[in-house]
Amino acid sequence: MSDPIVGIDLGTTNSEVAAFVDGQVRVLGPGDQRILPSCVGFSASGELLVGESARNQQALYPERTVRSIKRKMGSQETVTLGDRSFTPPEISAIILRELAEWARPTLGRRPEKAVITVPAYFSDAQRSATREAGALAGLEVVRILNEPTAASLAYGYGDGTRHTALIYDLGGGTFDVSVVTVEGDITEVLASHGNNRLGGDDFDDLLAERLAQEFQKQHGAGLLENHPEAKARLWWAAEEAKKKLSQEPFARIREEALVTRAGKPLHLEMEISRVEYESLIRPLVESTLDSVSKALQDSGRRPGDMDAVLLVGGSTRTPLVFTLLSDMMGMEPRQDVHPDLCVALGAGVLASRLAGQEVNRVLVDVSPYSFGVSYLGERGGVPYPYCYKTIIQRNTPLPLTRTELFATSHPYQTEVDIEVYQGDDDDALKNIPVGGFRVEGLTEMRDINEILCRMRLDLDGILEVAAVEKRTGKSKQITIAHALQTKTPEEIAAGRKRIQEMHESRAGRFEDRFDETDEIDDDVLEVEAIETERVSLPGEQEAEGLMERSRKLFDAMHADDREEAIGLHEKIAAAIESGDGSALTDASRTLREMLFFMEGKPN
Ligand code: AMP
Repeated sequence: MSDPIVGIDLGTTNSEVAAFVDGQVRVLGPGDQRILPSCVGFSASGELLVGESARNQQALYPERTVRSIKRKMGSQETVTLGDRSFTPPEISAIILRELAEWARPTLGRRPEKAVITVPAYFSDAQRSATREAGALAGLEVVRILNEPTAASLAYGYGDGTRHTALIYDLGGGTFDVSVVTVEGDITEVLASHGNNRLGGDDFDDLLAERLAQEFQKQHGAGLLENHPEAKARLWWAAEEAKKKLSQEPFARIREEALVTRAGKPLHLEMEISRVEYESLIRPLVESTLDSVSKALQDSGRRPGDMDAVLLVGGSTRTPLVFTLLSDMMGMEPRQDVHPDLCVALGAGVLASRLAGQEVNRVLVDVSPYSFGVSYLGERGGVPYPYCYKTIIQRNTPLPLTRTELFATSHPYQTEVDIEVYQGDDDDALKNIPVGGFRVEGLTEMRDINEILCRMRLDLDGILEVAAVEKRTGKSKQITIAHALQTKTPEEIAAGRKRIQEMHESRAGRFEDRFDETDEIDDDVLEVEAIETERVSLPGEQEAEGLMERSRKLFDAMHADDREEAIGLHEKIAAAIESGDGSALTDASRTLREMLFFMEGKPN
């Protein structure tokens, strides 16, 4: 076998390594880890830290940690870590070395050759610095590859036919948009634009600022000054909430004992909606659209000339990005290759070809269909009960969870029917009905009641649909066993007929949102429905007790222990919220062990 060649995305925020393994290009790493934060640092004892561990200490010890070194590549600047100084290629080499180590166990040996990606706008000096980093890491850089070209390879372009694509890449700290034509192995970057100081980290900053305001509102101004640790925690909480808001219409934030006042711990507890979050980040997302316009203009192309719009970079999971870009381009962007891994996978495709392997495209598991629910809305100015809202977009990588918010339509409504469809048409009746259920016993309210509809689709095609009353957490769900299986025309016709007939037996309505239909005949549609009331997870009560006990010890704890305990509280809260029993057991076990030592410790 020829020498393995790895493909490396040496990113500003994160880096990854990919190679040809078992007949396909895969991103490699230890355990479940595939993403290495592009961060390097030294611990207090002088130990070299690369990746997650360096990233974790960045906010607390900025003088011993470096991130975003890519921004300095090609410059004469050096960075100082503790009492040592390094050139940018030296720092990048440390990251590359780590990635080579990540690939070693799978490849059976340390790779010695690599394709490394760089932004299309990188100058010769920046490209040379990248080559130098490779050499310092003991890697022969067989090709420097433009990131948009890598993305188009990952999406399967480069197979001979000519395509024009717009590649929108929004990462943690940088934004790039490129218009490219791809023909065979040749990709021409017609124009590119961007902002190398804009990315998801700016979304985190805005949200962290919002959390800080809320904390000060709850407890008083000035409390966070001179508390870098508390600020760092707010920033982490903001990033977590941001990611949650990509899937859910709301995120709860619970940060215990952010600071203490007169020996009393002060907590932050709040909920933020996606709507509010989107209003914070909208100006930034809109500024990326200005760059898209400029790139199109410079390339002499119009949106309609594009064969595809490809999404790259972790921040493209933000729903507002998808919506605004779809509206502007008049087509749905493709997001079916994992946005964080896309560039590495593309580099892996080229690396594999250079190593003599036949690779055409990266294999990914995506949902081939969209799924959504019907609701009572308006069409042509009159109420229409079959309006349709997509919750899961087709071509999204699996497994995935998405939640949307709906509302009841009349006061004191205690029941609602939920109809689930497969398809994209905004008239639900033109889509394929796949299941439905009735939720009863909603709280009687004078105002509207908010209901979350959550869909979870896994790799085996099992679709779970849950309706959750937001104010109480009370929920009901069904499991649709073969959601991805093609329905026969007879099954579809039977489902439609049944829906038309159902209108006589009406449950409550959802204003401008939900349909008011009855249940579908599950047998006809081969739907396996299991209804469950939301019950406490086993161990939930015990976990609450453990948290209560540890809170009492907060003040007496060493700072590191307190941080660990708070981390465990957060894990427990997240496990309860998502219904993840095994995560709850794990976090409770660790907290129990901690308490065993602490409570047992004589003072
Ligand atoms: P990249 O530089 O491409 O690795 O992207 C990293 C950025 O993507 C960071 O700002 C992450 O916080 C962000 N990110 C990761 N997952 C999500 C998500 N689910 N929703 C929004 N942003 C995300």
